[in-house]
Amino acid sequence: MNKNIYELLGLVVALSFILALKGLSAPKTARRGNLIGAGGATLATIVVFFAPLGVGKSHHNTILILAAIAIGVLVGVPAARKIQMTQMPQLVALFNGVGGGAAALVATAEYLNLGAGASKAEVVATVFTVIVGCTSFSGSVITFLKLQELMTTRPVVFPGGRFVIAATLAGVLGTGGWTISSGGNTPLLVMGGLALLFGVLFVLPVGGADVPIVISLLNAFTGLTVAASGYVLQSTLLIVAGTLVGASGTILTRKMAEAMGRSLFGTLFGAFTAKPQEAAGAAETRSVKSGSPDDVAILLNYAQRVVIVPGFGLAVAQAQHTVRELADMLAAKGIDVAYGIHPVAGRMPGHMNVLLAEANVPYEQLVEMDEVNPTFPQTDVVLVVGANDVVNPAAKTTPGCPIYGMPILDVSEAGNVIFLKRSMRPGFAGIENELLYDAKTTLLFGDAKDSLTKVVSALKAL
Ligand code: NDP
Repeated sequence: MNKNIYELLGLVVALSFILALKGLSAPKTARRGNLIGAGGATLATIVVFFAPLGVGKSHHNTILILAAIAIGVLVGVPAARKIQMTQMPQLVALFNGVGGGAAALVATAEYLNLGAGASKAEVVATVFTVIVGCTSFSGSVITFLKLQELMTTRPVVFPGGRFVIAATLAGVLGTGGWTISSGGNTPLLVMGGLALLFGVLFVLPVGGADVPIVISLLNAFTGLTVAASGYVLQSTLLIVAGTLVGASGTILTRKMAEAMGRSLFGTLFGAFTAKPQEAAGAAETRSVKSGSPDDVAILLNYAQRVVIVPGFGLAVAQAQHTVRELADMLAAKGIDVAYGIHPVAGRMPGHMNVLLAEANVPYEQLVEMDEVNPTFPQTDVVLVVGANDVVNPAAKTTPGCPIYGMPILDVSEAGNVIFLKRSMRPGFAGIENELLYDAKTTLLFGDAKDSLTKVVSALKAL
């Protein structure tokens, strides 16, 4: 491929990644941004296939490369198609981990290839890529197992855990130094093994609600790994793509930690200092007030202002269209209706916005937490649809609990609170919600979509 064409196409790819990130920053343009990014990635793959590792070089193993692409497509496409929206963080974790692992493998292969001919800078970049790539791979596998509930979602801590983590990290850095000074293969492989162990130990103490933050952090790590492997392979495309992932992943991680009211250090290592929590609902004997769809319809019918608080359960029930139908009916009756959106409601940033946009809920009805909170004292009814942690007062009142310090939607300030949920089970963080026992709270038990459908019918009959 002609050098100028190669570089021009590289520029187009880099631009498309930047435009993709810009598009993804707002719900209205997110779909377009996603398509532009996917187009850029496809173009990058084609360019690299036809002009491997720069200009004037040809690749070997064409059959193996095509076989690897075929396996990737056969596994990746059905997985991405079949996955439920609520399982998206697990999928991102897995894809991200595979990316980090692949970058580590490619850098190792290149290192072995260069042998004694590798420059010091290339060895340093390889060491960095292998450490961060292996950590990202094994850490992502643990986050996947946690989110898929194939292992406990609670923090896993053991006596002396902090010291074991510190010792493993020291081992990783020590063997890294050894690889750089000796240029040998054995220290590199030992270092890779220790980095895999470090990834596991690093993620095990992170529990429940904090796991998606760690996924975002590991995603940023993978970006840096890819950028460093781009340096080893002398590929500008990898450097640009990796740097963008690293930078945007770091910003996202910070924003998520901020939205949950904690520092990154607290997110990662808080479990070592947290007080043990009692299992939620273990010996709960208090009674709650449960209501019928008719009771809920009456409460809504006589309200002047209603705020709907969507949460993870709305996504599970796929009740976005029904909730919109209810909101439209209330608005048609002259009731002021808004949706109170918590930044970490659901299981990924922007989850509720995406879900409600699917049902064409007008953007102006979506009110962010800081804006909606002061309006709760003037709100007659709050309809909490499949949300729990994001309205749980324990975030303010129970130091040491997993969500302590997270800003919440202050729904208890409203006149009435109605929870739509299936049982008394807790939310993602696994802790009791006192608000369920409050005198102003009514519970409507059942799947959110069924319950909403019944409330809509009851409202029509009034
Ligand atoms: P929660 O997980 O706290 O609560 C969900 C509620 O939905 C549960 O009480 C559950 O109760 C109910 N539910 C589940 N399925 C259904 C259904 N089919 N019909 C009716 N109700 C249902 O969700 P929130 O949105 O309040 O909180 C999100 C959590 O995720 C927070 O802890 C947040 O920190 C965490 N998180 C989110 C991130 C994000 O980016 N969005 C990132 C990191 C963490 P029941 O089983 O009884 O029905």
